[in-house]
Amino acid sequence: MSAIVKSDYLVIGSGIAGLTFALKVAEHGTVNIITKKAADISNTSRAQGGIASVTKPSDNVEKHIQDTLIAGAGLCHRDAVEMVLSEGPQRIKDLVEWGVHFTKTRSGEFDLAREGGHSENRILHAADMTGAEIQRALLEQMRQHPNIKLFENHMAVDLITEHHVLGNLQSAFNICFGAYVLCREDNCVTPFQANYTIIATGGASKVFLHATNPDVATGDGVAMAYRAGVRIANMEFVQFHPTALYNPGKPSFLISEALRGHGGRLINGKGERFMPEYDERAELAPRDIVARAIDAEMKKNREDCVFLDMTHLDGKELKKRFPNIFKHCKEEMHLDITKKPIPVVPAAHYFCGGIMTSLSGQTSMQNLFAVGEAAHTGLHGANRLASNSLLEAVVYSHNTAMKVMRKRSRNFGSVIIPPWDETGIVDEQEWVLIKHNQKEIQNIMWDYVGIVRSEKQLNRARRRLNLIYQELETYYKKAKISAELVELRNLSAIAFLIVTSALRRHESRGLHYMTDYPDKNDKYLKDTIL
Ligand SMILES: Cc1cc2nc3c(=O)[nH]c(=O)nc-3n(C[C@H](O)[C@H](O)[C@H](O)COP(=O)(O)OP(=O)(O)OC[C@H]3O[C@@H](n4cnc5c(N)ncnc54)[C@H](O)[C@@H]3O)c2cc1C
Repeated sequence: MSAIVKSDYLVIGSGIAGLTFALKVAEHGTVNIITKKAADISNTSRAQGGIASVTKPSDNVEKHIQDTLIAGAGLCHRDAVEMVLSEGPQRIKDLVEWGVHFTKTRSGEFDLAREGGHSENRILHAADMTGAEIQRALLEQMRQHPNIKLFENHMAVDLITEHHVLGNLQSAFNICFGAYVLCREDNCVTPFQANYTIIATGGASKVFLHATNPDVATGDGVAMAYRAGVRIANMEFVQFHPTALYNPGKPSFLISEALRGHGGRLINGKGERFMPEYDERAELAPRDIVARAIDAEMKKNREDCVFLDMTHLDGKELKKRFPNIFKHCKEEMHLDITKKPIPVVPAAHYFCGGIMTSLSGQTSMQNLFAVGEAAHTGLHGANRLASNSLLEAVVYSHNTAMKVMRKRSRNFGSVIIPPWDETGIVDEQEWVLIKHNQKEIQNIMWDYVGIVRSEKQLNRARRRLNLIYQELETYYKKAKISAELVELRNLSAIAFLIVTSALRRHESRGLHYMTDYPDKNDKYLKDTIL
């Protein structure tokens, strides 16, 4: 493929955010969705716990708002919180209409689970495979729509802005015309032009050594937007999930916090339950508290992991409620979770920060929108309340779609998008050396920019990352493009954004914990904007 590919909407990413947006606008225009690998490889597919929303009479939106604000530690944007949580129930109906089957009780009501930080049972789930069920249903709807075209194995490399295009553009400034897209099969780059470009590329947890995310989560959308001069916010707030399965050398696997909600107890290697010592909410405390407690307990006892004990609970019920986790532990570790505790460690899980957007997904660049985990909407503040992210994605994608459909696209005259410069050399030997930088970035981020940080550690990380960045940029300018190189360059940008943001916040708040500044300081009661 080499000619320009045009559509009204270009959606980058095929998780819940990208697909919801595409389904909403497809009646009004043509949509191209590009996605890095197969369409169902996403964070969405991995979500286990569920989607939080008020759906029963004894709960109410104000309680959900309060729980979200408490978790967010002073940095939530109240307008975003109110919008997402009050529109949530309507968007849940959309999902059900699109064919998502949430688990129900015998009497036909939604089976609502409870997770850390929630004051009510309000998590709708599809057994313990909620994300996979949502992904399945949305992809099925998408495939039936004649106006939507899906390009798998297509990866956005960079946004096309006024700096790239030629032609009569006196009136165009700070505007997005689409993206340069790399086809992973033939390694060719094609410009995808669109009136509106929507970044729905998900998270960036792969910048850390241990992550619950799939390999595609390299923060491409945020890195591309940053390179194009778009505002990015709050990248220091990275959520570490307290309980990823500890199974060294194997792909990461999440042990959902719904297990703690179900009665699971965290114990150390000596078999002692420790969470009540750290927080009165014990295992149901918010994730940051549980992750730090596990980190402290592992350091104190010099252990590689702690354990989640489910053995005191009804085994039959456990197998029924958590079939996926039961099967995975049995098959991968010969571990029967009804009989033995599960070894767990914290792992990078979710980015609260990202591309700054308005309530309708608008970024600081014209015709460019961001939705889902790639966006910073203000909903999560300094810490995300469990199961609020799927809801955020579906509400914001809806509102972004409503906004762009109301907009009249401006005519920028004869825009000429030049082809990608395909020149560049392949130097296998140098690439082998450069490739090692990925592990190095992940190690630096894990060791110095992880759950507990200090100024000294962050400065050390910054110095090392600077060297890697310079090496990479020099190589990128002369090398032939490849998917791995683009991802590595993006990981380097993400690492820089996190460290720079973390160094600016001289306090501990929500997910950002600094040993030099262990308390909140309201001087920093604002977003970190880069
Ligand atoms: C293990 C796990 C469990 C979770 N559990 C829950 C839960 O129970 N409840 C909850 O609310 N949240 C949960 N989350 C978080 C939630 O799943 C995500 O925040 C949400 O799914 C993000 O959706 P998204 O559409 O923004 O991104 P994703 O679903 O990650 O989709 C991103 C898409 O963009 C594509 N992409 C990336 N870069 C490019 C590029 N350069 N070019 C083209 N395509 C690209 C990817 O291939 C992918 O298709 C969980 C996350 C994980 C990892």
